[in-house]
Amino acid sequence: MTTENMTRSWTIDLASDTATKPSAAMLAAMAAADVGDEQRGEDRTTTALCERVADLLGMEAAVFLPSGTMCNQIAFLVHCRPGDEIVTAANAHVFSSEGAGAAALAGAQFSTIATANGLFSAEDVRAALRKPRHRSPRSRVVSVEQTSNRGGGTVWPLAKLADIRDVALSHGLLAHMDGARLPNAAVASGRPMHEHSRGYDSAWIDLSKGLGCPVGAVLAGSKGFIEEAWYWKHRLGGAMRQSGYLAAAGLFALEHNYERLALDHQNARLLAELVNGAGGAAVSPNAVETNILFIDLSNCAIDADTVAERLSEHGIRLGVENPRRMRAVTHLDVDTGQIREAASRLAGILTTG
Ligand SMILES: *Cc1c(COP(=O)(O)O)cnc(C)c1O
Repeated sequence: MTTENMTRSWTIDLASDTATKPSAAMLAAMAAADVGDEQRGEDRTTTALCERVADLLGMEAAVFLPSGTMCNQIAFLVHCRPGDEIVTAANAHVFSSEGAGAAALAGAQFSTIATANGLFSAEDVRAALRKPRHRSPRSRVVSVEQTSNRGGGTVWPLAKLADIRDVALSHGLLAHMDGARLPNAAVASGRPMHEHSRGYDSAWIDLSKGLGCPVGAVLAGSKGFIEEAWYWKHRLGGAMRQSGYLAAAGLFALEHNYERLALDHQNARLLAELVNGAGGAAVSPNAVETNILFIDLSNCAIDADTVAERLSEHGIRLGVENPRRMRAVTHLDVDTGQIREAASRLAGILTTG
């Protein structure tokens, strides 16, 4: 992190949906939380959040954790033994953006599937499975990401999720869902979260992405799985005390910030429509399923770093994926007017340099 990154303030931050700050109403809900010692099971607000998320995901139980990364890592720690293999998409967050945690912590390695948009098929999983031989890694888990972040916010259709679960089941594998943006997938598809996670051995949602909380994620699964997860929560330092202040933000978000995710999806499509074609930029509004979009600059005279620098002069931030690709993520702290402003600045820069 450069000093420049740390000191610059953004008026329209589209680099990630983690940019949201708690609203006054959320802070009020946090301040009013009924709290106790989470480690002793005495924090009623955290318990209520866990029960709520377990219910929403159709699971028996859930545990509150500081981050989505810890949800993934604890799931792998519970599911895997050293030498096991996890099948997932090559662009998966678990593979590239968690400090090689599966290898470093669970002793598991990945078998990755190349995909265009983060989605793979049951056939792809079958092809990735190892023959049971003493010299081979043991295929143990198949992990899907709903929505696919690096895939551009793509939503796994329910039928495909069921196919993956079934192929996992029929080969004795465990099915895990990285549901960092499962709420976005549920709102975009109009189908509740439990229909997406049905039959999965573990699934979680992030509270600090589109739902707008400052901290937190909730991992869900069977009673036995969550019991094991608790050992790891303690061991990794994820057990908390008066976590109810944070859990209250989660309960508030599920109540007030869930349905409105549809607005973020509309804003992402609007941004795509307004920017598509500007100076040769390509971003198909039809490809925008949720709140993430990629802007392809292959046919532009200007490169992504230069665009980002020019945008920053106006307090606008987008992500730079590579010299020819930028990423924008919409969220509740950027309204439609700001989307229009960002789009017109961006289109101007792309067109005139
Ligand atoms: C953000 C993200 C995570 C990690 O969540 P944190 O709360 O940032 O640790 C995992 N998977 C995906 C797909 C994500 O986008």
